[in-house]
Amino acid sequence: MDRKTFLRQAAALGLGAGFFTTLLSGCSKEYLTTLGDFDVNFDGKVLIIGAGAAGLTAGHLLRQYGVDFEILEASGNFGGRVKEISDFAEFPIDLGAEWIHTDPAVLSRLINDPQVNADVDLITYQPETISLWKDGELKRRNIFSHFYSEYKFKRTTWYSFFADYIVPNIADNIRYNSPVETIDYSGTGVTVRTNNGYVYTADKVLVTVPVSILQKGLIDFIPGLPTNKTDALDRIDFPDGIKVFISFAERFYPDLTYIGGLGDIVSGDDKIFYDAAFRKDSPDHVLALFNVGESAAEYTSLGSDEAIINRVMEQLDEIFDGKASQHYQNHVIQNWSAEPYIQGSYSHHGSGMDDIISTLLEPLDGKVFFSGEALNEEGNTSTVHGAGESSFPVVKRMLQEV
Ligand SMILES: Cc1cc2nc3c(=O)[nH]c(=O)nc-3n(C[C@H](O)[C@H](O)[C@H](O)COP(=O)(O)OP(=O)(O)OC[C@H]3O[C@@H](n4cnc5c(N)ncnc54)[C@H](O)[C@@H]3O)c2cc1C
Repeated sequence: MDRKTFLRQAAALGLGAGFFTTLLSGCSKEYLTTLGDFDVNFDGKVLIIGAGAAGLTAGHLLRQYGVDFEILEASGNFGGRVKEISDFAEFPIDLGAEWIHTDPAVLSRLINDPQVNADVDLITYQPETISLWKDGELKRRNIFSHFYSEYKFKRTTWYSFFADYIVPNIADNIRYNSPVETIDYSGTGVTVRTNNGYVYTADKVLVTVPVSILQKGLIDFIPGLPTNKTDALDRIDFPDGIKVFISFAERFYPDLTYIGGLGDIVSGDDKIFYDAAFRKDSPDHVLALFNVGESAAEYTSLGSDEAIINRVMEQLDEIFDGKASQHYQNHVIQNWSAEPYIQGSYSHHGSGMDDIISTLLEPLDGKVFFSGEALNEEGNTSTVHGAGESSFPVVKRMLQEV
């Protein structure tokens, strides 16, 4: 079942949005185990475009298999939609991906090394106090608690997972501030040009940029992308996304507050206020807004961080009787729609998800390959672990095909 069909059916049953994510992870197919032993028939060079979860994992695998590679990253840091801020509260905060929407054993699987286990302290994320804000009323919905079964990092983040376990093996091979503009695969190898005038050549290229970048034609492929790929790209939604963290002197909110009626989620919208300090054993009180979907434009289109925080505070004051303004201390805004190399949140596939993914995964001329959160053939799309895992079969294919 694809995400939208699931959301529609769940909405029809009167269930809440964030909680769907939990169930969605249960809908996914089997996870990949380690890449294992296989014959490597490739001794050339690979260029990876993008240093998010998919690109970093791909580089890590190539290093493990002794293959020459470089990662070209447009921004000045690794992680992509995995990003942290460590000086906002007493605990580090995930400005992008935050939950582990699956069995945490996936962390060790991403490391792909039986000698190394991800040794991280986790929280079972099962909010106890849950409310629904609709038609000017805050209604208790603690019953939703029973449907949660996901995890969060306790004193670390998704970002520090990559920083600790993946990046040290590949740090020397990442070229930052290198936005790729052209991928020319018309010759025997592939030539890649960045907007700062650098030219890189390789035998194979792995493209891991967000689908928004491909949809908007921000990378020029020579020859151009075939129409079956551009049609498949057009069938993926990549809606707006924003997170806002606000620290307060006192805690006046439940663990989780859904905004809007159950009908609002039919469009795949997720809009919640949640206690970001939940089970972190911290003295700090941090409330966060998570909004992904069409409704996020309410904030992302406002044009300035000041307008965004004013809007959020206005809403919180309405919901919690002015307590937000009374206890406000500080805030940080992460507007993912305004990030030039992300331009949105994450993929929502329409009907025919398997078909869309298999079309996009097909390499161009045996030289240009694709992976990333939108392209997990096991169905674990829109997640960090899904992005990382999407690179496993693609790397194997790159190394097996001559
Ligand atoms: C608000 C929000 C909340 C989320 N919450 C969760 C969660 O709780 N749990 C979860 O599992 N997932 C969550 N996700 C989804 C998760 O973050 C993504 O699915 C995953 O991180 C995507 O990884 P990726 O490698 O496919 O893409 P990205 O992380 O986007 O990496 C792609 C990289 O390509 C780079 N790039 C772009 N253009 C170019 C170019 N022209 N040249 C070179 N480099 C380029 C980008 O800078 C970026 O670093 C969330 C996402 C958002 C936005």
